[in-house]
Amino acid sequence: MKKALIIGGGFSGCATAHQLALLGGWDVTLVEAMPYLGAGNKTRWYGGHPYTYGPRHFLTPYEHIYRYLNSIVPLRSCKDHQFLTYVERDQQFYNYPIHRDDIAVMPDRDQISAELSEINIGALMGLSREEIAGLAPGAITKLNGAAAAKNFEEYWIYSIGRTLYSKFIDGYSQKMWMIDDNKLIDDFTWSPKGVTIKEGDRACWDTAISAYPVAVNGYDDYFRVATAEANVLLGTKIERYDIPEKTVWLNGEKQSYDVIVSTISPDVLFDQCYGELPYIGRELLKIVMPTEFVLPPHVYFCYYANAEPFTRIVEYKKFTLHKAPTSLITIEIPSKKNKLYPMPFESEKARAKRYLDEMPDGVYSIGRAGAYLYNVDIDDAIDHAFKTVARIKG
Ligand SMILES: Cc1cc2nc3c(=O)[nH]c(=O)nc-3n(C[C@H](O)[C@H](O)[C@H](O)COP(=O)(O)OP(=O)(O)OC[C@H]3O[C@@H](n4cnc5c(N)ncnc54)[C@H](O)[C@@H]3O)c2cc1C
Repeated sequence: MKKALIIGGGFSGCATAHQLALLGGWDVTLVEAMPYLGAGNKTRWYGGHPYTYGPRHFLTPYEHIYRYLNSIVPLRSCKDHQFLTYVERDQQFYNYPIHRDDIAVMPDRDQISAELSEINIGALMGLSREEIAGLAPGAITKLNGAAAAKNFEEYWIYSIGRTLYSKFIDGYSQKMWMIDDNKLIDDFTWSPKGVTIKEGDRACWDTAISAYPVAVNGYDDYFRVATAEANVLLGTKIERYDIPEKTVWLNGEKQSYDVIVSTISPDVLFDQCYGELPYIGRELLKIVMPTEFVLPPHVYFCYYANAEPFTRIVEYKKFTLHKAPTSLITIEIPSKKNKLYPMPFESEKARAKRYLDEMPDGVYSIGRAGAYLYNVDIDDAIDHAFKTVARIKG
């Protein structure tokens, strides 16, 4: 039997263990620092209500990943969920992503329409009137800001104009990343939610599968089933790494492996020799409300785009269908106390790349922290595992 070590027991680590078990011929050890599997996706309980750390809503364009997860933890559709953002300036909740129909009812709609005109966006992008005149109709808006923008602020202003940017994006992003200036964000490999201004169906993810587990313990059975054939070491950390030799020191013993799949921050594997990779975290305030439901029927969670210190409120029973006369909500507050979101800075991506380039054949660094990519959700983490085991299979 060949030996594999998996570091981290979130979705990417557990899905890797499962795929290796299905492949056969692998003796798999999975090391998880916490005393449980699943990380923030594990179901916890408060006030008699089940909840996870943040919504952990399963959204995916990948049918095969939906079918895979659904075959282990049956999923129910959450297609009716409507994403809302509160805009204090208008004292209104609007759809998120920004919806064309909402603009029509905003108090500053004339200003917004003027800013959305091609002339203005072209001028903001530094194009002359002659250059703008020479473009085919719709060409500037089709550029969608990304091609010309040098940073996150420019991307959004070129795409939606200054007024919508200041209402929906500016304060939210600064708060989300705990930064003073959105120009610091220069990584465009992701566009938040993939859309700038949406038209048509008001459900944000009308092209994706939107679901949540039926079981009261959410995703938990997935982690148990996926790792059933692995040697799982909970509450354990590797003491020392020698990645070039695919060797680690575990519980005082030196162990070598044919393959290592790491799902943790890659700087940890190299003693942070190129410096520490930065992350932003979240504190989660849990509040039981004395009412059966807090948010309207189709709203599972809301974003807050203003100066309030929190980014999002989640009402869990919308996902879990838990029956109770009370309702549990959580409030997510950006924090530096834990490490959850890789920072979207090119300089830090370059630092991560230096670590990733050090990984020899047979060592893979995957998942949100492992790949150092913000844009890795549950489905992407599973996808990373599938692709990694396909590479291991060769
Ligand atoms: C607040 C919040 C809300 C979210 N909501 C959604 C959502 O609604 N929908 C969605 O699709 N995605 C959501 N996500 C993202 C998604 O859940 C994760 O990106 C995905 O689960 C990542 O899986 P992973 O295995 O790569 O990483 P993780 O789940 O972080 O797993 C990594 C594991 O490694 C362990 N570990 C860390 N260091 C060590 C070490 N030194 N030794 C051993 N183990 C270690 C950790 O304890 C953890 O269990 C959310 C994320 C956050 C932070």
